[in-house]
Amino acid sequence: MQKKLVLFDIDGTLLKVGSVNRRVLADALTRVYGTSGSAETHNFAGKMDSVIIYEVLRNAGLGDSEIAPLFDTAKDTYIEMFRSRTAPSDVTLLEGVRELLEELSALPEVSLGLLTGNFEGSGRHKLQLPGIDHYFPFGAFADDGNNRNELPPAAVEKAYRLTGKRFSGKEVVIIGDTEHDIECARVNGARSVAVASGTYSPEELKKHEPDILFENLSSAGVVINEILRS
Ligand SMILES: [Mg+2]
Repeated sequence: MQKKLVLFDIDGTLLKVGSVNRRVLADALTRVYGTSGSAETHNFAGKMDSVIIYEVLRNAGLGDSEIAPLFDTAKDTYIEMFRSRTAPSDVTLLEGVRELLEELSALPEVSLGLLTGNFEGSGRHKLQLPGIDHYFPFGAFADDGNNRNELPPAAVEKAYRLTGKRFSGKEVVIIGDTEHDIECARVNGARSVAVASGTYSPEELKKHEPDILFENLSSAGVVINEILRS
């Protein structure tokens, strides 16, 4: 019997990608728009890739009416460049992640998915490089909404199609490394698990009142107990 829908953020939660990600975005935007905007310095943490593209280009003085017509081209260019220019050595799996996914995926009461600001094309590639993509049969990505808070219903719908169970309320557990992940869980009535393995310290995350807070995901047994708790 399925009891929990467990949705993982990618960057800062499962893994970290080196500076190649920022470089690729800057190069893709330069190719399409003639400027990389503020891509070299912008804070990406917890944001949707689509939102990041708009923000960095607005910082270069472009208006939304100039950004929108070329957006799909920019997205495709970024994904294609990201896939061709990243190697396994660019990705670092975070502490305890592989063990946790292995144990979680063996539990019949848990359905595993993704909830991430990544575009699906680049996000899936980030997971394929260290060989953890197969743990996630479905996910909600930047392609599925205009902001992160719209993604849980998309994930619930995809889980329903796969499992036949419609998860709701605290049956949905959202695991992420920023205040945006905590907020996303709160506004959707889901349970939030914050992990301080990204750019935020435990003290910073605590201010946003997650249901559960971990410094990292290295104690799989403890993490799973908290996830399964009603
Ligand atoms: Mg993150």
